[in-house]
Amino acid sequence: MRTGFIGLGAMGMHMARNLHRAGLLRAVWNRTGAKAQTLAAELGVVAAVNPGELAAQCDAVVMCVSADADVIEVVNALAPRLPRGALVIDCSTVSAATAREAARLLAGHGVEFLDCPVSGGVEGARDAQLAIMAGGSEAAFARATPILQAMGRAVTHFGPSGSGQAAKATNQIMCAGIIEAVAEAMSFAHAQGLPLDKLIDTLGKGAGSSWYFVHRAPNMMRGSYPAGFRVRLHAKDLSICREMAARFGATLPVVERMLGEYAELIAEGYGDEDISATYRLKTGLFRQGGGSGGEGTGATGRGSA
Ligand code: NAP
Repeated sequence: MRTGFIGLGAMGMHMARNLHRAGLLRAVWNRTGAKAQTLAAELGVVAAVNPGELAAQCDAVVMCVSADADVIEVVNALAPRLPRGALVIDCSTVSAATAREAARLLAGHGVEFLDCPVSGGVEGARDAQLAIMAGGSEAAFARATPILQAMGRAVTHFGPSGSGQAAKATNQIMCAGIIEAVAEAMSFAHAQGLPLDKLIDTLGKGAGSSWYFVHRAPNMMRGSYPAGFRVRLHAKDLSICREMAARFGATLPVVERMLGEYAELIAEGYGDEDISATYRLKTGLFRQGGGSGGEGTGATGRGSA
C-alpha cells in the first residue's frame, strides 16, 4: 500500500523511517514543515504541503500526533481527499471516544479507521519493537498488518474502534505502580470487555510491563491465586518498610495504600493467597459502578475474583 505518515515527532520520526525500510513509505507531512522536508529529502519520498495533498496520493495514512483535538483536526483534513477504501491508522494516545469519533468521521467518506496506540517508548519506536494495540474492524486490521508489523513486534487486534485505546489505557494504569497497578489495570481491562489473554501477551512486551504483570496477571485472569508470595508475608515486609521510612519522617503512599488493601484481604481470609489476590479488591471498583460496562466484543478469559 502507498502509505503516508503524519506527525514526525519523537515517536513518528522513527516510525516513518521504519515504514521506509519496509518499502511502504510514499509521503510525509508534518505541521512544522521543515521536519518533513528534511526527512523526505533524506529518504527520497514526497514532502506533502498539507494533509490533503498527502491523502490524495496514498491508500493508507499513519498518524502519530499529540492529543485528541489534534487527531480530529488531522482526520478532518484528510477525509475529503482520501480515495474511497483508504485506511487511516492512528498511533497517537487518545481516548476511546475520540477513536470512535474519528472512525465515524472517516466512515462518511468510505475510509476505514484503526486506533493503534503504541507502547515501548522512543527506543521501541526506533527499533521497530513497539507493542501495538489495535481497535477497528477485522478487515481493516488485516489490511494494516504489514504496516503495523514494520513498526512493532507485538501487534494485536483487540476489538472494535476504541479497543486499542482501551488496551493502552490499561497499560498506563500499570505504570502507576507494580502489583496494585497490575491489579487495577486488569480489573479495568475486564470492565472494558478486552480479551485478557491477548492483553497479557501483548502488554507483557510493552514499556509498562513488569515481572508481576507477566507472571501474576494470568492469576487475575483465571481468578485463582495459588501462593507465590503470600499476602501476609508481603504485609509484614511493608510494615518493616513503613517503620524504616518513618525514621526519616517519611510516609510512603504506595506502602500505606497496599497495607490497607492487604489488611482487607487478610480480614476476608485471603492472607495466604498470592499478592495478585489484590485483584479481588479492584474488581469491586467496577461492580460498584453497575458491573461490566465493556464496549468491546469477543472478550475471553475473564477473571472471576
Ligand atoms: P511529540 O514529539 O511532541 O510529537 C508530536 C507530533 O504531533 C509532532 O510532529 C507535532 O507537529 C504533531 N502535531 C501535534 N499537534 C498537531 C496538530 N494539531 N496537527 C498536526 N500535527 C500535530 O510527541 P511524541 O512523543 O512523538 O508522541 C506522539 C503520540 O504518541 C502522543 O499521543 C503520545 O502520547 C504517544 N506516545 C508517546 C510515547 C513516547 O515515549 N514519547 C510512547 C507511546 C506513545 P510539530 O512538529 O509541528 O510540533
